[in-house]
Parts: sequence; structure tokens; C-alpha cells
Amino acid sequence: MSTLAPHAEESRGASGPAAELRAAHGGMRRVDASFASELAVRMSGGAVIRLEEPLARRTTLRVGGVADLYVEPAQERDLAAILVFCRERRVDWLVLGRGSNLLVRDGGYRGVVIGLAQPAFSAIACEGLRVCAGAGAMLKAVAVAARRQNLGEFEFLEGIPGSLGGALRMNAGANGKWLFEILERVRIMDRRGNVLEMGSSDLAAGYRDCPFFADHIALSAVLRGELSDIESIQSRSEGYRRRRLETQPRQPSAGCVFKNPASIAAGKLIEELGFKGECVGGAQVSPIHGNFIVNAGGATARDILALIERIRGRARSERGIALETEVKIVGED
Ligand SMILES: Cc1cc2nc3c(=O)[nH]c(=O)nc-3n(C[C@H](O)[C@H](O)[C@H](O)COP(=O)(O)OP(=O)(O)OC[C@H]3O[C@@H](n4cnc5c(N)ncnc54)[C@H](O)[C@@H]3O)c2cc1C
Repeated sequence: MSTLAPHAEESRGASGPAAELRAAHGGMRRVDASFASELAVRMSGGAVIRLEEPLARRTTLRVGGVADLYVEPAQERDLAAILVFCRERRVDWLVLGRGSNLLVRDGGYRGVVIGLAQPAFSAIACEGLRVCAGAGAMLKAVAVAARRQNLGEFEFLEGIPGSLGGALRMNAGANGKWLFEILERVRIMDRRGNVLEMGSSDLAAGYRDCPFFADHIALSAVLRGELSDIESIQSRSEGYRRRRLETQPRQPSAGCVFKNPASIAAGKLIEELGFKGECVGGAQVSPIHGNFIVNAGGATARDILALIERIRGRARSERGIALETEVKIVGED
């Protein structure tokens, strides 16, 4: 039997398309203790199931409310069972990586949050020029594994504090490179729990986005590098690391809040608009980097969202630029 938190507080209905479906079918279904117990029966021994799980501790911004249910499958079979169960019950789900690109609203998430944090999802194996890693593996661990094999092209991943799954969804990148440039193949699970393998050329990915993963869960990926000498790899990694230390704040954040518009870097625009250092409650536009909003202490999601809207409003009215968030905003007010 999997781990199930013994207490259930008041349950709530989920939002989004599933909630609309529920309304159409007359009556709300709830993610509550009995839902959790029924799901637990379908899980293997190592799975974790927790009711009312605070998401602030699972995101790097450290804000946001609770998930109705938080589940860590111990193996792919568990993950498929979760998706099938959610589908049967018409409950929304969200897959969570390291939470380094997520802003969870203060009302939390109505539905099931799935974390791929168990060892079955984070194995890393190297073969020749390739690194095969689970979606739950941290990017730093992937980069370190590649470096041990004298494989270059992975250095840019080292300072991005997320998981491989989140990086696939975001097509994460830095220093002029992005993940899809080194991606060969992915294994994915669809909403019905079927596992498929796809080549990177089957997937459309652009700047900080691979829309396919909005609807599919990445399970693992094969990345390909090039042989390089260890000194060059280390010196590139070290250069990137130093640059981050010099240009990015240390306080809790979700990295860059906005995507760069075509005409100007978002950070520069925000600085030119005079926002650096501006606060709402405990949220602050970093004085170090205009595109970072940090939790300077006791921030709420509402504080951060207010700053985001203020910046967007002024970018639109003063410069005619529509800023789009890079950070994914989820949950309820
Ligand atoms: C200090 C700091 C610096 C950063 N620097 C960079 C940078 O240089 N470049 C950059 O690109 N980003 C950067 N980021 C942002 C972030 O680290 C990346 O976007 C990262 O790829 C997110 O991974 P994650 O595991 O944290 O994803 P999460 O934040 O957990 O999730 C992000 C999105 O991915 C989805 N997702 C997660 N796992 C999966 C999966 N297995 N299958 C399908 N979808 C999934 C989630 O549902 C969500 O929509 C930075 C963040 C911080 C805090």
C-alpha cells in the first residue's frame, strides 16, 4: 500500500476544462480522502500520496497554496494508473518538476499534482555520445554525468535549476543554446497512460516552449553531445557559473518572469521602465536583474502577480510592448 496522509481537510472541486465537464455532467466531483484511498489501492508500494500538500515548499518562489492531492508514482505503471483514475473521475492534474518555473496562486491547485521525484524517474545512463535521463533527473546531474564522459554541449544546462521534464516543456536554454538542440528522442506518456517514443524532429519547439508537453508527460529523453576535452568543458561550465553569480539574485525566484520580446531584452525593458527594486508586499523586482521577481520575504502569489501586472501595464502603455510570461501560472486565487 502506498503512503497516504491520514487526514483530509475540506475538499474542493478542480478548475479548468475538467471542471467545465463536471458542470456539464451535473455536480462536482471532489478530490478528497476517499478519492485518495481509492487511488492508493491502484498504486504500488513505493508511491507517495498526500492530501492538502503545500506547494510553496515545492516551488523555488516559495509561494502558493495547497494541492488537493500530491502524488509521487514509484513507477510508470503508477503514473498510468493516476492518469486513468483522474480521467475516470474527471479531475485535473498537473505534472510538477522542480517547481523552478512555476507560480502557484494562493488558493492552491484543485486536482492532483504529480511529482516525478521517485528514483524510477530520475536514472541517468551514458552510452557513447548519448546521455539517457529520466524526466525527474536534475539538469545539473545530467550535465555532470555528461562531463564525466568528456561530453561537451551540455554545459549550458548546469546552472538551470530544474528537472529534465520541466526543461523539455520549457525548451530551457541559456548562453545561446537550448535543450532541443541536443535532444534526440523522448519517451512520453499520453493522457490515457499510453507510452510512446518520439524523435525530436516530431516535436515542434520554439523559444521557451514545447507545446506538445502541455498535454503529454515526458518520461525520459536521450540527449546527444560531442566529445570534448575536459579542460574546455570545465572552463565553459565555470564561465557560465560565474556569469550567473554576477548577474542573478540569490533570493527565491522562478528565474526570468517574462519572455524576451523581439525588440528588447525583457530585463532591459523593465529596468528602463524604472521597476528595479520596486516592491509589492514581499515581492520585489530584483535590483540585480530586472526580469527576476524575488520573494524578498513573506511574499504571496498575489504580491508577485500584482507586480507582473504592473510591469505588463506600463510596458504596454509606455512602449507598446505586450510582455508574455515565461513563468507558468497555475492554481486558483
Ligand atoms: C534562479 C533560476 C534561474 C533560471 N535560469 C534559467 C535559464 O537560464 N534558462 C531557462 O530556460 N530557465 C531558467 N530558469 C527557469 C527553470 O529553471 C526552467 O524553466 C526549468 O526548465 C523548469 O524545470 P522544472 O523542473 O523546475 O519545471 P517546473 O517549474 O516544475 O514546471 C515547468 C512546466 O513544465 C511542466 N513539466 C514539468 N515536468 C514535466 C514533465 N515530466 N513532462 C511534461 N511537462 C512537465 C510543468 O507542468 C510546468 O508547466 C531559472 C529558474 C531559476 C529559479
